[in-house]
Parts: sequence; structure tokens; C-alpha cells
Amino acid sequence: MEKKEFKAESKRLLEMMINSIYTHREIFLRELISNSSDAIDKLYFKSLTDDKVGLNKDDFAIQIRADKDNRTITISDNGIGMTKEELENNLGIIAKSGSLAFKSENDLGEDVDIIGQFGVGFYSAFMVAKMVTVNTKAYGSDEAYQWQSEGVDGYTIEPTIKDSVGTEIVLTIKDNSEDDNYDEYLETYRLESLIKKYSDYVRFPIKLEKSITKPKDDDSEETETVIENETINSMVPIWKKNKSELKEEDYNNFYKNKFNEFDEPLAYMHVKTEGVISYNALLYIPKRPAYDYYTKDFEKGLQLYSNGVLIMDKCADLLPDHFSFVKGIVDSEDLSLNISREMLQHDRQLKLIAKNIEKTIKNELTKMLNNDRPKYEQFFKEFGMQLKAGIQSSFMSDVRDNLKDLILFHSLKENKMVTFDEYVTAMSEEQKYILYATGESVAQIEQLPQADLIKDKGWDILCCTERIDEFTLKMLMSYKDKQFKSIADESLDIETPEEKEEIKNKSEENKELFNFMKDTLNGKITEVKLSSRLKSHPVCLTSKGQISIEMEKVLNSMPNQNKVNAERVLEINPEHSVFNSIVQAYANGDKDKVTKYTNLLYSQALLIEGLSIENPVEFSNLICELMN
Ligand code: ADP
Repeated sequence: MEKKEFKAESKRLLEMMINSIYTHREIFLRELISNSSDAIDKLYFKSLTDDKVGLNKDDFAIQIRADKDNRTITISDNGIGMTKEELENNLGIIAKSGSLAFKSENDLGEDVDIIGQFGVGFYSAFMVAKMVTVNTKAYGSDEAYQWQSEGVDGYTIEPTIKDSVGTEIVLTIKDNSEDDNYDEYLETYRLESLIKKYSDYVRFPIKLEKSITKPKDDDSEETETVIENETINSMVPIWKKNKSELKEEDYNNFYKNKFNEFDEPLAYMHVKTEGVISYNALLYIPKRPAYDYYTKDFEKGLQLYSNGVLIMDKCADLLPDHFSFVKGIVDSEDLSLNISREMLQHDRQLKLIAKNIEKTIKNELTKMLNNDRPKYEQFFKEFGMQLKAGIQSSFMSDVRDNLKDLILFHSLKENKMVTFDEYVTAMSEEQKYILYATGESVAQIEQLPQADLIKDKGWDILCCTERIDEFTLKMLMSYKDKQFKSIADESLDIETPEEKEEIKNKSEENKELFNFMKDTLNGKITEVKLSSRLKSHPVCLTSKGQISIEMEKVLNSMPNQNKVNAERVLEINPEHSVFNSIVQAYANGDKDKVTKYTNLLYSQALLIEGLSIENPVEFSNLICELMN
């Protein structure tokens, strides 16, 4: 019989399973039950429209049996089964390659994380089994096949005989070793507790074969041992239960099982509504983004059920993009079972549900922001980017309105995260704008020469350290009638009338010099002017108009984007001795010196902004010249 090799990544995953640590092993059962339940879901769904299936809802079940003598556990279902191709594709190649890629990128070190965080499906059988045999017959097929594997060496597939449609998985349990005891999994009581713990909500009965010793029916004192199948799970989906029946632990356990999560969720929402539209929803905010969350591979969506029957695994229409991190399920009696993906998009009921869900999430986050700030900040650290992206990419003002109060920025003055509302409330009467600064880090922003005067006034500055930040603020334009303005904006209007007058006079006096400097810089800047915002630094760069220097940087780094240019203004500190030197040199007709100083000052301003200078060698030569 030909043995086939596993694909490389599947092999790695298998190795990890085989060497898994003890605390993870028990999840093998929930993974296999969950696969069976999915397979039954599929066939049950078919049976609703296709009489040929020949099964009623009550006929579907998952059967579990342990055989101590032969050291086997058998899990069988009358679900949709697998064809030969499906066996090959589903069990030979593992679809979880993304999680493996994630693991190697992030070097999670221990295998703990991958097994816990992503769930590992079928292969988890190898945590307890030395051999796995799958006998399966697909719905609509006359042939049955057997897949068998003893681990990394490969697997075989051959025809077999199986009467009914469905899948039977036989695990041959590993032998005990000095350190490990596998016998426990052959105990019915252990299996029963695992089913209760992990799979209680599964919608189909999970029947465990038990041998029960009871008094004989006749009047004798004797007992007899009979084999009975007992349904272990309660089968009520947790979202249909009353909130009063459920504890936080129940919600968390469901989340971990359903979504293969290792961590508890950050928050959960249980919605039960009746009325114009009836639905139950269970929504979760994860602690951390999924490994692929910030990639284009990520698929948002909630599981959609119609009265307990799964109709779609990831219904994207139920979640707006800005809340795409939410996981959960929605169950509504008002949706037709036969609804197709295309029809769903236009479904009025679904739209209503989606609207409500958005509100629920928004309220939950607002509640968290107000009542548990550390938790909200933890959330914002992981998903704040998504909220900002929601504002930045939305042309609908209601989306922006919805999100703006959920946004946090680092406050330079308070040295903590603040909301716009908190910023505005703390503003002094004279302060006109909500001020922000862009930079690589808070530390860098702290150093910006443009911030000196503003800090002196005791005004706060919001720190934009992510590329998206300034775009977000530009999109919002204002908050509570206060305009957002960059501290590098040319027109900040922070000088007193006297200061303005003084600057104006000095500028008049040096008009010719400034024109000369501007010409020297040959189109690199739009204007040279005197500034009152500088204290200790001789120069800084600011910009005029809509496009800031930071935005120019970001936009020009994007592919296929037309190049944009910020209108740069070189601002000079009239109180700085360097300024006096230039004025002197110009008065003495030493244009060569003025040219050199101008170039040096411009380069310095670029460096302070975190921009690269055009000609580092020239810059260095000029400095050496001065040093000599
Ligand atoms: P996942 O369930 O996350 O897709 P698994 O590794 O658990 O990953 O299973 C791989 C695939 O094998 C499933 O998607 C399913 O198509 C198929 N499969 C597994 N178990 C069964 C089963 N009991 N009946 C039918 N198909 C199954």
C-alpha cells in the first residue's frame, strides 16, 4: 500500500502535536467533536431542502465509545462525510499554515501558544493517539474510504466498507510512559467530564457509551451489566440561555472553545431582543488581534445562525470594518434558512441587526472607557488603529461621529492617554486650537523646537506617533468646534499682539536677507520668516496649507501615489545668536557665509524634523569648515 507524505508544514504541526505538553492534550476531544458537529451541520442543512438525505433532526448524533482492551476511542458521526479527494485535501494538508507562519515570525518559543491560540483541529488527535484511522463515506457517494496514519511518516488512503454516510474516527491511544499516563482518556468518566466541559452547547446529542451495572429485572438479588448510550451535552446553545443562568466563566469558556482562543476575551456582550426583529447575539472583544488581523488575509464576520442552524460562518455584513475585531455569533428566527450569500446582503432584517450590533459594540466600548480605563487602554493599544482607520477612510459623518469619542491620543502634558473631550475640557480660554505634533515617538515630539512656546504657555499637545494619526485628525477637522492644528502649522496664532508687532518690524528690516536666503535654498522652501515660537533652537520647519511635512512623508512612501509636496517654511529664531551672525554677515556683504549658514540651518531643521538631508557630505564639509 502506498504511503503518502504529509506536506512540510503539516508535518511540523504534527510533530508539535505528538510532543505536546500534558495540559493541552485534553482538547483533542473537543476538536474532533467540533469537526463532527460541523459535518452534521452541513448534512442537516442539506436535509432541510433535500428529501434524499432521509434523516430528521433527531436522527443526527455524535457517538463516542472507549474500548479499554483495545486501547481505542471511537468518535463517529452521521454528518456529510468526506470523498477520497476531501480526505486527501483536508487531512493531508493542513489549512492552518497561517498560524505556523505566525509562530515562526514571532518566535513564540513554546508550542503552548500555537496549540492554545489557534486550535489545531484534526491533528490534535495525535496528542493522545499513536495511530489515527478515519473511515468515511461522503453524502451522495457509494464509496467509502479509510485514511490511516501513525504520525509524521505519512498516511495511507484505501477503499473500505462503510454502510452509512458519515465519519468514524478511531484513535489508538498511546502507551503509558514513565512520565505520561494516557490511560485516563480511556475512562468513561473522564470522557464524560471533557464533553461537559468543552462541548456542552453542541447542538446535536453527543452520546457516550457506558456500561451500567444495575439490578436484574427479575426479582433476584443479582445485577447485570448493560451497555447504554447516554446523551451527555445539554445541547442548548449558550446564547439562548438566560443571562441569569450564566456566569462569566461560561461565556469565557464558550469563547475559548468556539473560537479556539487561548486567552479569555477582554469583554463580552450578550444580546437578547424581541420585537421588530428578534435575535440573540453573543459578541466578544478579544484581548489581542488575531495573528493575521492587520493583513489583507483577515476575514471579518460573525457566525450567523437561523434558529440554531448555522447558515454562515463569517457573515461580513454584520460587522462594520471599524469593529472587525469583534468575534461572535448571531442567531435570528427571522432569517430564512435558504437565504444565499447574495440575498443576505440585501436583507432588510440583517441590516437592522447589523445596525443594532454596531450600537451594542459602541456602547460596550464607551462603558469600558468610562468605567475601566486601564482595560480600555489595553483595548485601544491593540485595536485603536482600526478605529482611527474607520475615521480616516469613512466619508460618512455618522461613522466619524460614532468613533471620535472612542479615540485616545497621548497627551504631552499629562503624559497619559486622553480623549478629545478631556483635552478640550482642559483647554485654557486663550487657546484656540486642539494642538498636535507628529513624530516617531513621544520623546522625539518632546524635543521639537516648535513645541517650546506652546509648552511655556502650559498648553497640551496630542502626540501623533502612528502614520495614520494626522490623517485621522485631518478627517475629523474639529472636535466640539475646536479645530485640530499641527504645532508645525505656519499659522498657529499664538503670539501676543505685541510679539506680532515686534516680529513684523524685524521681518521688515530683514526682508532682503530673507529673500536672499530663500533664493539660496532654491525652491526647497516657500518662505523664510521670523518666528516667535522658538526658544532655544535657532530654526524649525513648518508648513503652509493642507499638506504637512509628515503627510508628505507618508503619502510619498505609498506606492502609485502621485508625489505631493508640503509648502515648507523655514522659521528662524530672532533671539538666537546665530540669527545675529547671519544679519551681520549679510550687512558686511559676506554672501558666501550667508549661503553656507542658510544651508546649514536648513539641514539642521530637516534633521530635527526626522527627515533626511539631501547632501550629507556637503553638510559634513560645511561643519568641518566651521570647526577649523
Ligand atoms: P478545521 O476544522 O479547522 O477546518 P481540521 O484540521 O479540524 O480543521 O479539519 C480539516 C477538515 O477536515 C475540516 O475542515 C473538514 O472539512 C474535514 N473534516 C474533519 N473532520 C471531519 C468529519 N468528522 N466529517 C467530515 N469532515 C471532516
